[in-house]
Amino acid sequence: AGTGKFVVGGNWKCNGNTASITQLVKDLNKGEIDADVDVIVAPPMLYLPKVQSTIDRQFKLSAQNCWVSEGGAFTGEVSAEMLADANVPWVILGHSERRALCGESDEFVGKKVAYAIKNGLSVMACIGETLQERESGATQDVCRRQLQAIVNELSAGDWEKVVIAYEPVWAIGTGKVATPEQAQETHAGIRAFMASAVSQDVASKVRIQYGGSVNGQLQELAKQEDIDGFLVGGASLIGDAFITICNSAK
Ligand code: PEP
Repeated sequence: AGTGKFVVGGNWKCNGNTASITQLVKDLNKGEIDADVDVIVAPPMLYLPKVQSTIDRQFKLSAQNCWVSEGGAFTGEVSAEMLADANVPWVILGHSERRALCGESDEFVGKKVAYAIKNGLSVMACIGETLQERESGATQDVCRRQLQAIVNELSAGDWEKVVIAYEPVWAIGTGKVATPEQAQETHAGIRAFMASAVSQDVASKVRIQYGGSVNGQLQELAKQEDIDGFLVGGASLIGDAFITICNSAK
């Protein structure tokens, strides 16, 4: 397992409004989270300051994306500098929805991760295969290719600021959770790749989250040797469900 605390992210995606987010923050604030878990929530960009000023300190804040380089003439984008300036310590990069729907390439994601780290942010960097890729036996190749593009841009020390989120695309928002064996096998492959591509030290320390229809009781997944946390979409919009997931490592 990676060293460091179990780490759970809640990706709210493009969901919610003032009323529902106010309620969600209230529900989250009622939750008691084990002290040895890092919990990070990623509201839509527009609501980040509101959540930041109302949510308990036990929750760290994340954006769901940022620009690939210094801000400027990039209409509609938010830069890593702005996130750092606004005291948002984390950002999710390379989510499969952005790769698939916004055409983000492996190389672009790699550059984003590097630029975010350069600006002091920590990153949940997402990778994962589609159903077709899994069925054709390409899972490990796809994960390695996506990771290599990040490895190319980082120095070994930068990996302290990265959590890898393995999210099989076929499991995202589908209700199909990878089995503990499937997830463990891929996580172990990711760790082995990190040992060869970066170093044994980084491979043994980096935390690897599983994401994809995570909901409810997840002890079996959390128990796996190479699963160090979860990245949660749908269930992170339901306060008590998310708290249960955060506490599932015990
Ligand atoms: C995600 O998109 O990061 C995710 C894991 O979504 P869900 O939990 O809804 O499958």
